[in-house]
Amino acid sequence: MTGAFDTHSHIQDPKLLADFDGVLQRATAAGLEGIALCGYDAPSNALALELAARSPLLFPTVGFHPHEADEVTTAMLDEMATLAALPEVVAVGEIGLDFYRNLSAESAQRSLIDAQLEIALAVRKPVSVHSRSAEETIFDHLGPYSAKAREQGLASPGVMHCFGGTLAQAEPYVAAGFLVSIACPITYPANETTRDLVRGLPLRSLVIETDSPYLPPQGRRGQLNEPAHVIAAAKAIAEVKDISLSEVLERTTANARQLFQIAQPAGVAA
Ligand SMILES: [Zn+2]
Repeated sequence: MTGAFDTHSHIQDPKLLADFDGVLQRATAAGLEGIALCGYDAPSNALALELAARSPLLFPTVGFHPHEADEVTTAMLDEMATLAALPEVVAVGEIGLDFYRNLSAESAQRSLIDAQLEIALAVRKPVSVHSRSAEETIFDHLGPYSAKAREQGLASPGVMHCFGGTLAQAEPYVAAGFLVSIACPITYPANETTRDLVRGLPLRSLVIETDSPYLPPQGRRGQLNEPAHVIAAAKAIAEVKDISLSEVLERTTANARQLFQIAQPAGVAA
């Protein structure tokens, strides 16, 4: 059976880093074959690169989370752009807009996402997008960007990480070529919105993630999440779509590899 690909994690979080070897061992035992290790500020970007160098399972991404928008300087963006160009970096992210917690001013968040979309285009890499209470607004930025990314020949302009919107809200992104990433909250009994979203989207538009150490699956709520638990999201997708777990893993892992421009293993059709 194809292994799972966790398209969004933060193993550099001190709570997971304290058990880094254990986290990777359990991920391997659960059959994972890739984990995106996503930066969100300058120290976590540097750490994503440093940790990814220690395991072939880990693929780093670099970017500034919208919460950082009031703090990010031009010099910090220049430094991030240099890291983003490194061959081992698979995406720019996580970037986005967060009008739920609003930890930075809206205008600063909008300028920051635009600057980072420019960097993604310059290095020809996809973006990993955080959107909270901004599901419609963020298309103002991602729509024009995705057209340019596709002109450049990117397989996908990016991934909507932990998408919390409805099927109707997802449709413009899917039409623009974005993948929609499903996290473990799909297992929560009250989360009919995400199950409806999955029911309505084709498997070719889906990837899976944990957002570790956040968002643990049902049965582990209140605990730390880690990449091994991404299987819970895959199982929930299989149930909702009434297909096998192996089909979900095969397709979502192929989608993740295509998104991040990672060669498919020998013998696997793209
Ligand atoms: Zn995240």
